[in-house]
Amino acid sequence: MNNSLLIQLFDLSGRVAIVTGGASGIGAGISCQLAIAGATVIVADIDISAGQSFAKELCSEGASAIAIQLDISNEDVVKSCFEDISREHGAPWILVNNAGIQNRKGMFEISGDDWDAMQKVNLRGAFLCLREAAELMKYEGQGGRIINISSASIRHPTTEGLAAYAASKGGLASLSQNAAFELLEHNITVNTILPGGVMTPGALGATGPAPSAAAQRRPPLGQCTPEDIAMATLFFASPAAQHITAQQLAVDGGWQLT
Ligand code: NAD
Repeated sequence: MNNSLLIQLFDLSGRVAIVTGGASGIGAGISCQLAIAGATVIVADIDISAGQSFAKELCSEGASAIAIQLDISNEDVVKSCFEDISREHGAPWILVNNAGIQNRKGMFEISGDDWDAMQKVNLRGAFLCLREAAELMKYEGQGGRIINISSASIRHPTTEGLAAYAASKGGLASLSQNAAFELLEHNITVNTILPGGVMTPGALGATGPAPSAAAQRRPPLGQCTPEDIAMATLFFASPAAQHITAQQLAVDGGWQLT
């Protein structure tokens, strides 16, 4: 017995993977893991200098990674960016909708504009990327994998100031279910990951009310890292998960059980 079957089940060689927000935190962990599995990773981030230096770092370790500037909240930019990627590197087989913003504001302080700004990136932006990627996957006719990074906060609120954020992430989870249904006939799977707290630049730098004592509680199984979220993403992206769609997987160290 050897482990070649195991390797094949997680082999992404020859696949193009777009990771939005792939230059920092969870997205960087995911980009790295997909590159280790053999994918050509497109680090698509609004922060092009962070994207370029991270892609360079991955390439120096033997990976195939390219940085592209992308603001997921701009429809024209999303369309042209996905067209460029497809023309220059081939159609994506994997999309990880990871880019997001996490600032908090108390319920009574959230203005309509605050609300719209959060949905514009976390929900509308993710939809635009999903639509463009699915269109390219459908045209290519080889199926595909879409993984949406939502949040455990949609199931288990413990922190003040997350109403707009959690609504955007709940919307993303609902979008996943409906997209999974509509994309079934094209053999494109759509799954959702619900991370618990991960100490990333985005989480640590988020503005707003201090996290509650409950939110600061250490998860029973320990604090999750970007690598934990990346392993779950690799699973959904891999041949091992070929018959799995419309599922939600919380990666939160058991936090919801406390
Ligand atoms: P992060 O801020 O460290 O990384 C986010 C990346 O997204 C950055 O590189 C940023 O430049 C990019 N980005 C922001 N706006 C963008 C836009 N409009 N277009 C393209 N790129 C954009 O954050 P993170 O903690 O790694 O979060 C990644 C994802 O995980 C987010 O969707 C976040 O909501 C989700 N999440 C994080 C946690 C956590 O505790 N860190 C928990 C649950 C869910």
